[in-house]
Amino acid sequence: MELNNKSLFKQKCFINGEWLESSSGETLEVNNPASLEIIGNVPKCSITETKKAIDDANKAFQTWKETTAKERSVILKKWGELITENVDDLAKIMTIEQGKPLAEAKGEILMGATYIEFYAEEAKRVYGDIVPDPRPGKRIVIIKQPVGVVGAITPWNFPNSMITRKCAAALAVGCTTVVKPASQTPYSALAVAVLAKEAGFPDGVFNVITGSASEIGKELTSNPIVRKISFTGSTEVGKILLEQSASTVKKVSMELGGHAPFIVFEDADMDEAVAGALQSKFRNSGQTCICSNRIFVHEKIYDEFLDKFTNEVSKIKVGNGLEDGITSGPLIDKSSLEKVINHVQDAVNTGAKIAIGGDVHSLGGNYYQPTVLSNVSTKAKITFEETFGPVAPLYKFSSDDEVIKMANDTPYGLASYFYSRDIGRIWRVAEALEYGIVSINNGLPTIAEVPFGGVKESGMGREGSRYGLDDYLTIKYISMGGI
Ligand code: NAP
Repeated sequence: MELNNKSLFKQKCFINGEWLESSSGETLEVNNPASLEIIGNVPKCSITETKKAIDDANKAFQTWKETTAKERSVILKKWGELITENVDDLAKIMTIEQGKPLAEAKGEILMGATYIEFYAEEAKRVYGDIVPDPRPGKRIVIIKQPVGVVGAITPWNFPNSMITRKCAAALAVGCTTVVKPASQTPYSALAVAVLAKEAGFPDGVFNVITGSASEIGKELTSNPIVRKISFTGSTEVGKILLEQSASTVKKVSMELGGHAPFIVFEDADMDEAVAGALQSKFRNSGQTCICSNRIFVHEKIYDEFLDKFTNEVSKIKVGNGLEDGITSGPLIDKSSLEKVINHVQDAVNTGAKIAIGGDVHSLGGNYYQPTVLSNVSTKAKITFEETFGPVAPLYKFSSDDEVIKMANDTPYGLASYFYSRDIGRIWRVAEALEYGIVSINNGLPTIAEVPFGGVKESGMGREGSRYGLDDYLTIKYISMGGI
């Protein structure tokens, strides 16, 4: 890998400030999803290394929690600055292991740094309360304290920002962290660890272990020292981790799957709606948890939207994300490609028409054509399951009530989008959508200042904004008498 800062490419785990192999000597292969070549290997850690990382994080917690918010803020800020300075190398690592185009990778890394900057500042404002006690001679004081050692398990689709979004909040309030990144994208996580060490985090405060997901996950969820699990990934794995965390009654944050509706009302600004649908559907080749997965268009403007949207989709340039001008990379692996093929075939079998795409890409490998499907049946699989690929299914609707019912007809509740200029409708629909995020006339709703998170089977807890700190804090009240 040709990098300006070669030290960023690490093939070892980061535990207690040291770079370590797995105790068994076993490794995991990491592949480039664009070229299908092997990039390298990382340690296949299991219970032994997880226990060590947890114990080291616990030792570090005893002193890290005693530091002031200002002291933690200085180190966090340095970490964010180093990430920003190294954005080109970090983006290259990300594109090579994850596949997204370089410009998108840079965008994610800079976004990842904004979480760190935000929490470096916000940590200074973890206020408590003084509550008037109704009983004479007594006082009540409420304080907030760091929950303890945090286990963070992250996905491959945002290999940088899912780590910084969790860890910046946790570290800012005085917790220590053990991160288990996705096995397909460990190098972005390890590069961030190189910069954490350089920024000055004491040993054991920030740790990264790669390896067997089930073994590491089991130890993180069952070890009583870990007081918090923060997971981003599929609803299926989230449910396993919730069950496992029950035995030690841990605090949990679950950022899980989504199935976002994208509604275009008849009074929408057509060009804005087309641009928003393009951004929210095809970013990261359709592999984001807030990707619009069901596009509902009012019957009066359906044909016009379909034409304009299909025309924009035809301009997407698919290829290796390292090459100039590429706007969409490959899917992460073969099984993701197979899911997309299956969803499109099933949609066509149940009556959908292919407006554009609809097949694997001539580049071969993990590439799929950006696809628009019209007249999709509400019985098609794609209507119920998260596709996680570059496929946009369109549905026609005729009334607000009808489309709200269709939009809410899913166990998921992460992001939703709609386009309208009618203020009354905007309030009614925003309040009726059963989602943690409602994005109106805006295809890109995620920034550090918002409380990102879902309802229903999309999870619990919030990341980003001042509310994101609460997930790493416990509330204690101190009741004083004899005054
Ligand atoms: P995934 O299969 O659930 O994997 C996510 C992480 O969990 C990876 O680190 C994975 O490790 C680990 N894992 C897998 N099985 C585990 C187990 N039994 N115990 C402990 N850890 C385990 O999800 P993904 O395919 O990487 O990511 C896509 C999903 O994430 C989508 O559903 C997407 O919607 C969701 N997502 C949600 C958000 C959000 O903020 N709500 C953001 C991004 C993505 P290995 O890689 O080693 O298997």
